[in-house]
Amino acid sequence: MENIEKKREYNRKHYLENPESYNKWSKEHPKELKEIQRRWYLKNPDYSKRYYKEHTEAVKKIKKRWVDNNRILNKEIKKRWETKHPEYKKKWSKEHPEKCKESKSRWAKNNPERNNRWKKEHPIESKIMKKVWELKNPEKCKESKSRWAKNNPDKVRQLHRKDESKRRIIIKGFNSTDGITKETQDYVLKRDRGLCVYCGVLTSETNNGDRLQTNYDHIIPISKLNPQIHLFNPNSIINLIIACKSCNSQRRNKDISQFCKEKNIPIPNIIMELLKKQKEQTKIGGG
Ligand SMILES: [Zn+2]
Repeated sequence: MENIEKKREYNRKHYLENPESYNKWSKEHPKELKEIQRRWYLKNPDYSKRYYKEHTEAVKKIKKRWVDNNRILNKEIKKRWETKHPEYKKKWSKEHPEKCKESKSRWAKNNPERNNRWKKEHPIESKIMKKVWELKNPEKCKESKSRWAKNNPDKVRQLHRKDESKRRIIIKGFNSTDGITKETQDYVLKRDRGLCVYCGVLTSETNNGDRLQTNYDHIIPISKLNPQIHLFNPNSIINLIIACKSCNSQRRNKDISQFCKEKNIPIPNIIMELLKKQKEQTKIGGG
């Protein structure tokens, strides 16, 4: 025992006097060095605590640099430690709800793609989480919604339109609660070659808000349909035609024949054809 102590003392002196040889040794024996350091820190817990207190920023910097350079390893260590101490994480999040929340939202902000990917892969969970958040933060929810609305006026208009047509269909008791489906839109667009059936202009789906924007015009407006008599879906291909925004807003709820008279054009052939098809799905004795 005494001998070991003596040898250690000798080594210590030697290395203090020859820092280069110490550096060389420590580079060549990283494992042993680590072990020695570990043993020393375990023997002197107060020292490391004090050192941390006195050099918090520096230690944090070193730690951060190490984490930055060893992201994967750090993750593994963290995971291993967490599986060994499952209660710790739970306890910590319970004791630090604010910090926990902060770190989660910081992560989501820093990893938007992964956050979005998670949302896509977990649509139900993310919907529930969103609902819970909305219920817990009514004020913030209102704020964020109105901010979104301000930044996306076109989308708001679109949503209103969709909601409106949905609402009207539900009120009138039609079976379909959908708006105009994408398939229907594609079909009608192809059938009418994207041309406004009233004025013949080539409409465009991309010119949002432009008077040339593609509109899906109801041959018989939903408000004038009766689910007891008209047995077809108001938003189906036999009741929809392509119109430019300009013609569509001129027409509004007007009857087709009246609108064409005002525009001084004959009723377009496609509309005549579709009206025939509608008649096949209309109860005799009604409109
Ligand atoms: Zn037109």
